[in-house]
Amino acid sequence: MLLREDPDGSPPSFGALFHERSLGDYAPYVGRSRLEELLALAEPLAGCRWTHLNSTYVGGGVAEILRSLVPLARALGIDCRWAVIEGHNGFFAVTKKFHNMLQGIEQPLSLDEIFDCYLGTIEENARRLELDADLVVVHDPQPAAIVAQGILPPRALWRCHIDTSAPNPILWRFLLPYINQFAGAIFTMPEFVAPGLRVPVYELSPCIDPLAEKNRPYLRSEALDVLAPLFHAHNVDPERPLVVAISRYDVHKNQSRILQAFLRLRAEGRLSPPPYLIFVGNSATDDPEGMQVYASLVDQVGDDPDVRLWLNVPDNDRVVGALMRLASVFVHVSTREGFGLVVSEALWQGTPVVGSRVGGIVKQVRDGETGFLVDPKNVDEIARRIGDLLADPDRARAMGERGREHVRTHFLLPELLRRYLLLLRHLLGIDPEPPPFRIAPA
Ligand code: UDP
Repeated sequence: MLLREDPDGSPPSFGALFHERSLGDYAPYVGRSRLEELLALAEPLAGCRWTHLNSTYVGGGVAEILRSLVPLARALGIDCRWAVIEGHNGFFAVTKKFHNMLQGIEQPLSLDEIFDCYLGTIEENARRLELDADLVVVHDPQPAAIVAQGILPPRALWRCHIDTSAPNPILWRFLLPYINQFAGAIFTMPEFVAPGLRVPVYELSPCIDPLAEKNRPYLRSEALDVLAPLFHAHNVDPERPLVVAISRYDVHKNQSRILQAFLRLRAEGRLSPPPYLIFVGNSATDDPEGMQVYASLVDQVGDDPDVRLWLNVPDNDRVVGALMRLASVFVHVSTREGFGLVVSEALWQGTPVVGSRVGGIVKQVRDGETGFLVDPKNVDEIARRIGDLLADPDRARAMGERGREHVRTHFLLPELLRRYLLLLRHLLGIDPEPPPFRIAPA
């Protein structure tokens, strides 16, 4: 069960999926004493079975985290596993509607979609999956209803990665009876805890892995080498400033307003040399809408000489890291955002971020310190803040350096593991007191 075929049928190999991890490799980033603390926390958990269940091995922040978290937990002697629910396109079309509706977008949803597509697929998965473990963490709404199938152990938590600060009330009412069957729920921010939850709630921020290929430190010359084939193929002059936006192509990621802001800034004509705007995006196997968003952006961009729109870039991780390193400004102005790992990834590369004052982005972008916060619907403001950073490279660099430090302190993988270890210890009765990040009941 450690690995299953992904829904597209291509079985990911262990090496392709997981990063090899050993705890000591993190010492340069978080210090020896933090690692010793982790070892001590993990000691009584040796052999403990901890399983994650989500909906894709590929694409999106959850897969990105599990690729590193699972092997790091295993390196500490915990029997950590990762299982994925399987479904046909119809199932993922429905769960994408769930995702959108939980993030406030109105969409029609039929009884057939709920009972046939969604619950039917959950039942099929329940017949197939073996989820007996000391703790199962079920990520996001796609697999949530599995809790009613009687195959989860008593210690199972629902981990919500999305921005549920204003969920569609009907869908929330549908999901709530499922969520309330878990032993607890985990949210990224207290603001995301929607009404009606009757289970303990914990606050946990996602984190990035400093050892991942995309997060390793790139010298400018290395980054240029990595990007040389792509820049050559797409005629990008590396001496011009880069405004970079990387994320799934998704309506909440607000890519079309980034484009409008860039065009407005360019129309002012005050930036010399003129910057490029580079979008990079990939598709996730559980997100059937991405291609529509991408196609619409392709139409909007046309043959603009200063804008590049890349999809599923080869050598993804190195290209992402190198672009974040070379960017003068990283832009992430989602209209709703659970966390936005890309923000921490860009800050970690020392690049300041223009981010929206939305969801988990505000944990990462300190306004005026590590970048600027903007209203995601205000194209003028987005343009102005991108322009401010391009016009003052010294200030931008100082912000990027503060951003890297902010990420180092709060959003590196060992911190996520530490919190999960504390949770495991509490749930297994090793620590009677709840961890300090239990936010409800207080
Ligand atoms: N990502 C990537 N290539 C792409 C687009 C995104 O590797 O073309 C990665 C990105 O670096 C990040 C993850 O996908 O690690 C996206 O996570 P995030 O939390 O930003 O957004 P989500 O997709 O989960 O909403």
